[in-house]
Amino acid sequence: MFSPLLILATDVLSLPTGIYDNWVERKYGISVQGWGSWSWDWAKGELISVVIGSLLITLLYAVIRKSPRRWWFYFWLVSVPLLVIGIFVQPLIIDPMFHKFVPLAQKDPRLTASLQELVQHAGQNIPPERMFWMGAAEKSTALNAYVTGFGGSKRIVVWDTTIAKMNTPQIVFVTGHEMGHYVLRHIPKLIVLNSLAFLILFYLGYRCIGWVLARWGGKWGIRGLEDWASLPALLLLLSVFSFISNPIGNKISRYYEHQADQYGLEVTHALTPDSGQVAAQAFQILGEVDLSDPEPNRLDIFLFYSHPAIPNRIRFALTYDPWSNGGSGEFVH
Ligand SMILES: [Zn+2]
Repeated sequence: MFSPLLILATDVLSLPTGIYDNWVERKYGISVQGWGSWSWDWAKGELISVVIGSLLITLLYAVIRKSPRRWWFYFWLVSVPLLVIGIFVQPLIIDPMFHKFVPLAQKDPRLTASLQELVQHAGQNIPPERMFWMGAAEKSTALNAYVTGFGGSKRIVVWDTTIAKMNTPQIVFVTGHEMGHYVLRHIPKLIVLNSLAFLILFYLGYRCIGWVLARWGGKWGIRGLEDWASLPALLLLLSVFSFISNPIGNKISRYYEHQADQYGLEVTHALTPDSGQVAAQAFQILGEVDLSDPEPNRLDIFLFYSHPAIPNRIRFALTYDPWSNGGSGEFVH
């Protein structure tokens, strides 16, 4: 009973910042979500995090009690398949709890036909069943598209807001970028990288929590690591680690996003006249609608940006030209 209550209490305490976020986004017209719908989303999110969080915590303490010295390794061993299952089921179970997904071919057959042309040109085999339309417009005005899942749940998702605000060549470029993630196997690579990061994280957690408890455990009334009372200290460590490791994750993400931009430019080069211009327009629209900072400073990018800054993406789109001297692209020949 302890862990569900702790998770719930933490999330209720952070409720004001969540409300403030939606309030700001509504004020600037990025969110169009009413408070009833917002509260319902919050409740669903809570349910998911309480269920999954409690299971993980129960598992963690069972492992800690079984093996006080090697728990970090055994917990890592179970966490990897759980991560893989999580990434597999997210598009199938979690995402549909918050948005509507429809096969793109049903919503927009003409766009699907253009995208099929793109896929064929790339020499890829991405069937239309792997392309989904997502209903974002009832909650948001922001534009997005993404690749998610793997194996049987792998898919390219395009938000309806993107389809509404971009023309076909621009959407083809955006999808080309998403295809890049798919073709360059970014999701399996991220699974491997995350697993390695978990191993380091758990080992550091094991080393640090011993030190923290030796130093403050008595004062905080924690009998030992196997005592449930150590959970808040563990969570505190976790949030410190994730704050420190976020910039590293963002750096890797920006690298993959840049690769996907390059792939998108290469794959649309022979299909779309002035493909670099079209890509730059797409980035411009994306930046305007999402109210991106047109001149972000380096520190902001380093700390928070999972994608390269829009001005950098535009500059790259307008200058990338491996074809000028009879050359060819790196990913698409
Ligand atoms: Zn991307």
